[in-house]
Amino acid sequence: MPTVETVRGPIDTADLGPTLMHEHVFVLSTEHLQNYGENDWWDEDERVADAVEQLNALKALGIDTIVDPTVWGLGRYIPRVQRVAEHTDLNIIVATGLYTYDEIPHQYEHRGPGLLLDLPVDPMVTDFTRDIRDGIAGTGVKAAFLKCVVEAKGLTPGVERNLRACAATHRDTGAPITVHTSVGNQAGRMALQVFRDEGVDLTKVVIGHAGDSNDLDYLSELADAGCLLGMDRFGLDIYNPTSSRVDTIVALAERGYADRMVLAHDASCYIDYFPGAEAQAAKQQIAPNWNYTHISTDVLPMLRERGMTDDQIRQMLVEAPRRYFE
Ligand SMILES: [Zn+2]
Repeated sequence: MPTVETVRGPIDTADLGPTLMHEHVFVLSTEHLQNYGENDWWDEDERVADAVEQLNALKALGIDTIVDPTVWGLGRYIPRVQRVAEHTDLNIIVATGLYTYDEIPHQYEHRGPGLLLDLPVDPMVTDFTRDIRDGIAGTGVKAAFLKCVVEAKGLTPGVERNLRACAATHRDTGAPITVHTSVGNQAGRMALQVFRDEGVDLTKVVIGHAGDSNDLDYLSELADAGCLLGMDRFGLDIYNPTSSRVDTIVALAERGYADRMVLAHDASCYIDYFPGAEAQAAKQQIAPNWNYTHISTDVLPMLRERGMTDDQIRQMLVEAPRRYFE
């Protein structure tokens, strides 16, 4: 049986069940917390207990697995996620890679082939591979996929190096890739171009945030290349309202792409972009449906109402995630 690594260890891919393919547990800068965490906006025990509660509520709605693409740049800290995972039956899958819209961190800048410290292999590849093969920072938890970004700035030298490092690690390890993309510049095409050039198995690529677009030609092009479309920001109406996201999924399913879409909210239990109870409340006002439960309680009924079959929904929630990790 093929297996996939979770925070609590490997499970059969057949046991993934209904899976949300892009949710964060915590988005929380480790460096910020180390320096300024002793103020009023962070209480470790309270936040861990709150995360457990939110994830158990999601599990109770029938979701068995979340896939968490929090990497360096978004504040990945696995021991905190382990504390949460101890108290929920929900499977949590974690990632390696790098979250940057432009430059890579200085720690990689001068290290690598042809650089000041001339190494035979890009240390990004070395680090990502270690996370996948040996585990992350001595926790024993192994990353199961790679995360990179192409945003509004496009393929800057740093962004391109990150994509190529993820591609090389994918070739070595077989780990699939999720690339965060922006839709204004149809950045999915740029990611596709680099991944093709690098010989990536495109059926192992999620074009993250593709669902912010309603351009059926753009989305079909990515799906025809073999990629999975991340319809993964339900509740973030500022990028694309739920009704439009639903229309686009229905239209793509009618064109035969139900097996090329995956679902999520890009939500988090806590995101430090909105520090403090008041700001978290403001987040609720700006995006009241930006939480883990919107798909289960609102979106799936809307899709069924629009004529999508149980089999098509199963493709998006169960079968496509399973194939991605096999
Ligand atoms: Zn995200």
